[in-house]
Amino acid sequence: MNILLTGGAGFIGSHLCDFLIAKGNKVICLDNLITGKRENITHLENNPNFRFIRHDVTTHIDIDEALDYVLHLASPASPVDYIKYPIQTLKVGSLGTHNALGVAKAKNAKFLLASTSEVYGDPLVHPQREDYYGNVNAVGPRGVYDESKRFAEAITMAYHKVHKLDTKIARIFNTYGPRMRQSDGRAIPNFISQALANEPLTVYGSGTQTRSFCYIEDMIGGLYKLMLSDVNDPINLGNPAEVTILYLAEQIISLTGSKSEIKFEPLPEDDPKVRCPDITKAKNILKWQPDVPLKEGLKLTLQDKKRG
Ligand code: NAD
Ligand code: UDP
Repeated sequence: MNILLTGGAGFIGSHLCDFLIAKGNKVICLDNLITGKRENITHLENNPNFRFIRHDVTTHIDIDEALDYVLHLASPASPVDYIKYPIQTLKVGSLGTHNALGVAKAKNAKFLLASTSEVYGDPLVHPQREDYYGNVNAVGPRGVYDESKRFAEAITMAYHKVHKLDTKIARIFNTYGPRMRQSDGRAIPNFISQALANEPLTVYGSGTQTRSFCYIEDMIGGLYKLMLSDVNDPINLGNPAEVTILYLAEQIISLTGSKSEIKFEPLPEDDPKVRCPDITKAKNILKWQPDVPLKEGLKLTLQDKKRG
C-alpha cells in the first residue's frame, strides 16, 4: 500500500512509519518538525519505500502519486507543547485535518485521524466510553487542543457522511515509549530524565490524579488493526491499567534506583482528575488489547534511553 502519514517525524508517527515500512508498504511522511525530530526518521531516509517531505499540513498538500491511505497524526500532543503553540494546534486540527481529508478524497484513499482521550476533557464519567460526550473547557489552556481534536473528529465524520470517505477515528489515550523528547513535558519523559539525573521528580498537585499508560508497540498494533477495519465511529485505544501519578513517579524512582525525592508542584489548570479507557469496543470489534504491563514498558523505555 502507498500511505501518506502526517506527523511522521513525531513520537507515535515515527514508530508507525517503521511498522508500516517493515510490513512492505510505501510511506510518504509529511512533517513540519514543530514538535517532531528528523532523527526519529533518519534511519529510514535511504529506504526506497520511504520519502520525507518537510511541509506544514495547514497549507495545501500536493502529492503526485496514488494513495491507499492517509493517516493524519500531525499535531502537538504534549500539554507543554500545545500550550506553547496554541494557534498552530488549533490550525493543524482544523485546517490541517481539512487538507488531509481533501487529499484522501482526491486520491480515493482511506483516512485515519489520530484523535485523543482529551475529547473527554476532565471526565465526569469513568472509565470513558466512546458514547460519553465529554467535559471540556473551550477557553481554558487545554481547550486549544481539545477543541481542535473535537473539530477534527466532526469534520472527519462529515467527510464520511457527505463524501462517503472511508474514515477511522482513533481516540488515543496516554502512550509512552522510546523517542519521546526529554523536553516534551509529559509525565513519563519528565520523571525518567529527573530520576536519571537524581533530581526531584515534579509531581503536580497531590499526585492522586490518574492516567492509564499504553506502551507504544501496543498502540501501533491497535492503530494498524483500526486502519484495516471497517469501523467508522470513534474507538478508544489505550491501556486500561489505571495508576495515580504519584505511583508512576515512585515506580520510576524504584526502576532507575534513583536517589531522587518527590517534589510537589501546583496542579496545572483543568488537569483531568481521572482518565481510563473503556476498551470493550476495541476488544470486541478489533480483537485488540494491550499486552505490555506498565513496569515492562517503563523498563524498555529506560533501556532505550540509556542506549541513546
Ligand atoms: P509528537 O509531538 O511527537 O508528534 C506530532 C508530530 O506532528 C510532530 O512530528 C510535529 O512536528 C508534527 N506536526 C505538528 N503540526 C504539524 C503541521 N502543521 N504540519 C506538519 N506536521 C506537524 O506527538 P505524538 O505523541 O507522537 O502524537 C501524535 C498524534 O497522536 C497527535 O495527533 C496526538 O494528538 C495524538 N495523540 C497522542 C497521544 C500520546 O499519548 N502520545 C495521546 C493522544 C493522542
Ligand atoms: N505531571 C506531573 N509532573 C510532570 C508532568 C506531568 O505530575 O512533570 C502530571 C500532569 O499534571 C498530569 C499527568 O502527570 O496529571 C499526565 O500528564 P501528561 O503531561 O503526561 O499528559 P496528560 O495526560 O495530562 O495529557
